[in-house]
Amino acid sequence: MLNLLVGVVVNMKVVKFGGTSVASGRQIEKVFHIVAQDPERKIVVVSAPGKRYKEDVKVTDLLIKCGEDYLKNGDGKESFFAVVERYKEIANDLSLSADIVDKISSDLLEILHGDRSNPDRFMDAVKSSGEDNNAKLITAYFQSKGVEAHYVNPKEAGLIVSDEPGNAQVLPETYDNLKKLRERSGILIVPGFFGYSKNGEIVTFSRGGSDITGSILANGVGAEVYENFTDVDAVYAVNPNYVENPKEIRELTYKEMRELSYAGFAVFHDEALIPAFRAGIPVNIKNTNNPQAPGTKIVHERSHTNGPVVGIASDTGFCSIYVNKYLMNREIGFGRRLLQILEDFGLSYEHTPSGIDDISVILRQDQFDSETERKVVERIKKELDVDNVQVAYDLAVIMIVGEGMRQNVGTMARAATALAKNGVNIEMINQGSSEVSMMFGVKGKDEKKAVQALYDEFFRK
Ligand code: ASP
Repeated sequence: MLNLLVGVVVNMKVVKFGGTSVASGRQIEKVFHIVAQDPERKIVVVSAPGKRYKEDVKVTDLLIKCGEDYLKNGDGKESFFAVVERYKEIANDLSLSADIVDKISSDLLEILHGDRSNPDRFMDAVKSSGEDNNAKLITAYFQSKGVEAHYVNPKEAGLIVSDEPGNAQVLPETYDNLKKLRERSGILIVPGFFGYSKNGEIVTFSRGGSDITGSILANGVGAEVYENFTDVDAVYAVNPNYVENPKEIRELTYKEMRELSYAGFAVFHDEALIPAFRAGIPVNIKNTNNPQAPGTKIVHERSHTNGPVVGIASDTGFCSIYVNKYLMNREIGFGRRLLQILEDFGLSYEHTPSGIDDISVILRQDQFDSETERKVVERIKKELDVDNVQVAYDLAVIMIVGEGMRQNVGTMARAATALAKNGVNIEMINQGSSEVSMMFGVKGKDEKKAVQALYDEFFRK
C-alpha cells in the first residue's frame, strides 16, 4: 500500500513537472508514481501540457494564438478546439469523467468572451488557463487513485506578484503567506506560471515561468529540496546538439548555473534560481522518464571540483558597438555617457570589454534595428567626439564556466590555444570579475567549432 495519506510532514519537497512531463495521460501517470513514491513530495507544481513529440505544439502556444485571434477578430475557434482536444485526450487516457473537460471548455470560453479592453491582461488570463486547467485535471486524477490531493489556486496560496503582464515579479509578502501551506494535509497541486497582483488580477511570469512558481513555493514553505522534473537525465556540460554524449553535471553552484543559463542552457529558467538561492534550498533537476537517475544538484557550494570548467554554453544573435578614442582612459565619465546613450534608446547591454583607448558594448541584436543603429551611432559620434565607431553583427558568445577557475592557473591560455588551433578567431574576451566565467566573442559561424574545441580541451583531455 502506498504511503500517501500524508498528514503534516516535517521535511517537505516541492516538486515541479515541466510541459513534457504533463503532456499526455501516459506522462501524468509517471508523475503520479513519482509523487506517490515519496511522502515528502507534498507540493506539486505543474506546467501546461507541453510537446508530446518534436513537431507538437505546446498548449501555451495554442492559447497565445487563440487569445491573439480573439483580440483581432473576436474569434479563434480553431486554436480553442485544439486546446480542448488536448485536455480531452489526457482525460480519456486517464479514464476521467467527461465533465472535467466540459468545465475546462466552458471556463476557457468565459475568459475568451470576457473583458478584452486591456489586451495584456486578457492575454495573461488566457495563457494562465493552460497550467490552471492542467492542475485541476491532475488533481482529479490523483483523487481518482484514492489519494488525498487538493488543487490550490495561487491566489488562495497568497502568491502575490507585481502588476507587469508577462513579466511578473514576486512580492515579498508572498513568502509569509505561503508558510501556511505547510499545515495543509494531503498533496497540494499548484498551477505554475502565474500569480495575482495586489488588485487580484492574474499576472503571468515570463515564458517557462512554472520553474519560478516552484522556486517561490520552495522558499515559502522552507522545502528541504526543490525537485524540478524535466525530460533529460541531467544538465549536460555542453549542448548535446554540438557534442555527442556530453558529460552530465552532477553538481553545480547557483552562480555556475546562472552563468550557464545566461548563455543558452535552457533546462532551468534563470529567474527561478533566485528564490531557492535566497533560502539556501538545493535544486535537483531530474528526469520524469528516468526518475532513478540522480540528476543535477544546484547548491551553494560544491563539495568537489573536477577541473576548472564545469560547463560550456553558447548563444548567438549578439552585436557589438566598438568605440575608439585616443586618451579615452583619461576622460572622466566617458563610459557613463556612452551607456547613457544606449539607455536613452531603451537598449540593454550584456558585456563591455574595454582597453585603454577603446571599448565595445555587446548587445542582443534583436533590439537593434537599422534605424536605431543609425541614431545611436550618430549620437556617439556627436556627443563623445570619438575617432571611430563600428557596429558588427552576428556574433556568438561562448562562456566557459566553473568555480574551479579561481584556483586554477592557465585556464584562459588553454582556452585561447584550443580556439587558435581550431582556426577560430577570437573577436573579444571578457572575464567576469567573480572569476566564475570567461566569455569569448566569436563570429556566429564559428560558434559550433569553438564550443567543440573548448569541450575537447576541458573535458576530453
Ligand atoms: N507553459 C508556460 C510556457 O510554456 C510556462 C511553463 O511551462 O513553465 O512558457
